[in-house]
Amino acid sequence: MIFLKTEDEIDLLRSANQLVSKTHAELAKVIKPGVTTAQLDKIAEEFIRDHGAIPTFKGFPNPYGGPFPASICASVNDEVVHGIPNDVPLKDGDIVSIDCGTLLNGFCGDSCYTFCVGEVADEIKQLLKVTKESLYKGIEVALVGKRIGDISHAVQAHCEKHGYGVVREFVGHGIGKEMHEDPQVPNYGRPGNGPLLKNGLCLAIEPMITLGSPKIGMMPDRWTIKTLDGKCAAHFEHTIAIHHGKAEILSSFEEIEKIEGKLY
Ligand code: MG
Ligand code: MG
Repeated sequence: MIFLKTEDEIDLLRSANQLVSKTHAELAKVIKPGVTTAQLDKIAEEFIRDHGAIPTFKGFPNPYGGPFPASICASVNDEVVHGIPNDVPLKDGDIVSIDCGTLLNGFCGDSCYTFCVGEVADEIKQLLKVTKESLYKGIEVALVGKRIGDISHAVQAHCEKHGYGVVREFVGHGIGKEMHEDPQVPNYGRPGNGPLLKNGLCLAIEPMITLGSPKIGMMPDRWTIKTLDGKCAAHFEHTIAIHHGKAEILSSFEEIEKIEGKLY
């Protein structure tokens, strides 16, 4: 069932997503070689709770195992999504995708950003650049009257044009009172296919893109997803609301990008 949102509900979704973006900005200030993802998780959880919200990832149920134990997903290098924060220090040249979710006043925020740790190889910076661009290409076509497949195709075409892999097993989603609502938003598809985009539709669009093959596997912790070829993966996610005929981006990378400067 697709739940279309009222303007009042979109206001609440905007607040929840702005808190995610502020959390990301807090993390951007401290991400550097030597910092652990467990430290980032602690900062994020405190920041979210200090702002009257709940980190939605913590305790999130898993059909394959135990609930998610942390407030952020931190996926390093060849980890694609759902990495569990740990005590391993980040190293110069790593990348780390921080996926973060909040529940504030009954509505959810969900956004992901892939950060550079120190000096990252040009080949990997290019992957980050193209993945982020593909997210905005998807958002550009999220117009009333278009379909989910138009978003999917825009993401896929941009990434594959650069020779990258598009992960198939994980997709974007509707968002509202629940973090994951209908419809699914794949990062691959055909234009003109899938559910029609209408005013009030709120979506998390989240390309998960690999430097090499898009084939992935689940680690024994039953959460962490890695590329099978060991090459890096990037993940950028915005929550958007379609209203007044077009997409408004409810989350924001602006503060992060100010802090990290022009990297690519
Ligand atoms: Mg997310
Ligand atoms: Mg999501």
